[in-house]
Amino acid sequence: WMRTPPDDEAQSAPPIDVSRPSIARMYDYFLGGKDNFAVDREACAAMKQACPELIDIANADRAFLRRAVNHLVGEAGIRRIIDIGSGLPTARNVHEVAHEHAPQTQVVYVDNDPIVLAHGRALLADNDTTTVVHGDVLRPAELLAHPEVTRLLDGEEPVALLLVGVLHYVLAEEDAEGIVATLLAALPAGSYLCLASLVNDGQPNAARAEEVGGQAVGRLKFRTSAEVRRLFDGLELVAPGFGYVTDWRQDDPTVVTDPETMWCVGAVARTPAAQ
Ligand code: SAM
Repeated sequence: WMRTPPDDEAQSAPPIDVSRPSIARMYDYFLGGKDNFAVDREACAAMKQACPELIDIANADRAFLRRAVNHLVGEAGIRRIIDIGSGLPTARNVHEVAHEHAPQTQVVYVDNDPIVLAHGRALLADNDTTTVVHGDVLRPAELLAHPEVTRLLDGEEPVALLLVGVLHYVLAEEDAEGIVATLLAALPAGSYLCLASLVNDGQPNAARAEEVGGQAVGRLKFRTSAEVRRLFDGLELVAPGFGYVTDWRQDDPTVVTDPETMWCVGAVARTPAAQ
C-alpha cells in the first residue's frame, strides 16, 4: 500500500487564511495545541468567556473518540478507518490509538481545512498506512470519489466511519441526514458509524456557544439530542448506546456527567450485516 496522495492534492485545497479564525485551529487551541494563530486564540477567548465549559467539552469529545477507536480496533476488529472532519493531527490521534492495537490499520483522514492537509502531510510523511486528504462533508459524493477513499472502501472488509465533532458545522438546510445516509451507503456491510456532535437541548450556554461560535467561524448548527439520535436510525447501537460522550465506556471513574454543561452526545453503531 503506497500512501502517496495525488500531486494535485495540495492545489485542490484553498490557501491557509490567517485573517479569519479556523475551526481546526480553534479546536487545536482548545486542546492545548500550538498550530493556531492570534485570530484563532481571540475567537477562542470570546467563546470561553461565553461558555467556560467548552474546554471540558472539547477534551470530552476527544476522549470519547479515543475510547471509540479502542473499541473499534481493539475489540470489534476494525482495520480500516475513514475519519471525516479529523482536525489537526495531535498527540494520540486516531491512527496512533488504532496502531497500538493493530499497526496495519489503514486510516484516511479527511478535512476541508487546508492547515490539516499541510500538517498532516508533514506528520504522516513516513507513515505508510495513514493518509490525509482534502474533502468536504457537505459534498459526500465527491469525497467518496477521492482515490484514497475509494481504495479504503474497496472490497468487503468492514470500515469505521468517524464523524466526530463535525456535524454541528452542517447547517439545518444542508441535510445532515442525507449526508450520513450517502456515506453509510458506500460502506461495506457490517461497517461502523462513530458520531458525536454538540447539541442544544435548552442549556443556556449551548445557545450562547452556538451564537458566539457561529459568528467566529461563519457556520454552526447545534441539533437537539433527539435529532442526532435519529442519525443512527436503522443501525445497531453498540453498548452503552446513545448519550453524553462522557458516559460512553468511560474509563475515568472521576468523570461525572452534568447535562447542563456536557452538551455533546454521540454513539457507535454497526450497519446491518450482509444478507
Ligand atoms: N474529529 C476531531 C475530534 O473530534 O477530535 C476534530 C473535530 S474539530 C471540532 C472539527 C473539524 O471538522 C475541523 O478540523 C474542521 O476543519 C472540520 N470541518 C468542518 N467543516 C467541515 C466540512 N464541511 N468538511 C470537512 N471537514 C470539516
